[in-house]
Amino acid sequence: MERVRDVRALPKAHLHLHFTGSMRPATLLDLADKYGVHLPEALKGGEPPKLRATDERGWFRFQRLYDIARSCLRSPEDIQRLVRETAEEDVRDGSGWLEIQVDPTSYAPRLGGLIPALEIILDAVRAASRETGLGIRVLVAANRMKHPLDARTLARLAVRYADQGVIGFGLSNDERRGFARDFDRAFAIARDGGLLAAPHGGELSGPASVRDCLDDLHATRVGHGVRAAEDPALLRRLADRGVTCEVCPASNVALGVYEKPEDVPLRTLYDAGVPMALGADDPLLFGSRLAAQYEIARTAHGFSDTELAELARQSVQGSRAPEDVRRKLLAGVDAWLGGTGSDARPGGE
Ligand SMILES: [Zn+2]
Repeated sequence: MERVRDVRALPKAHLHLHFTGSMRPATLLDLADKYGVHLPEALKGGEPPKLRATDERGWFRFQRLYDIARSCLRSPEDIQRLVRETAEEDVRDGSGWLEIQVDPTSYAPRLGGLIPALEIILDAVRAASRETGLGIRVLVAANRMKHPLDARTLARLAVRYADQGVIGFGLSNDERRGFARDFDRAFAIARDGGLLAAPHGGELSGPASVRDCLDDLHATRVGHGVRAAEDPALLRRLADRGVTCEVCPASNVALGVYEKPEDVPLRTLYDAGVPMALGADDPLLFGSRLAAQYEIARTAHGFSDTELAELARQSVQGSRAPEDVRRKLLAGVDAWLGGTGSDARPGGE
């Protein structure tokens, strides 16, 4: 009988997680109570809300829920709590390296401006890292619903903080709006400043949006990218260039990109040799965290432990973790796979 190892014990890197979206549901209830924010039922139930983001109304609803949750983060202490708890959850799920993305613009009004907001976030990241031992870095993400000039301002800011924890630059929100190329200057600023380019693409829009990320923004990683599966030539290109796709299966199903976990084309990407880093995206809204994504690969797609270990390696290799951390995590992956079995529990807990 083949051993079934605990995916939470598999060392991995978490490369696709949004700031407010990483909050524990109980913490949201707590903060809403503290500030007298009325939460809609969808955020109170402990059950992930039903969202269909494949139509504009569904995406708008998702954004509205996200905005309400974000409005409960009002002080540096709230930010510290969020990051510390997120780090604890990540560690519990076997994450040995976390890259979290945030658009500081959205937090700026309550935290004294754009620069103070980013500094508070970076302070919180350093503190959480110290307390939990988890290496954490930040991607500053621009919002594609806003003006490209705002994105340039953010890119410059991100570069200024490159030696204080910012490692990348992203682009989020509805990829059906506007064009990636409108943000090419912002991404050039980020890349010239040594930052990783990791825009969202290939989630709500098809393969063309992934191509735009490569051609117009010179992405070294793509947020989601799953819909590249619809285009074999694009898959070859991603594989040849070693562009890591940050695939978030639970998110894809929650937002209606795919009907059920089995429909997320994990196998197609894997077999094409496209490196992947599984991510949770917004656990607050989608109801599952990092290890659950590896569970989906196992249960819905029949990934063997050897293949799960390979996915974990790909997540580490696609990260910006320093060499010593990578070496340690990769050795941990080998140990998980070939270890004595003392850490192998049938079916997890
Ligand atoms: Zn995302």
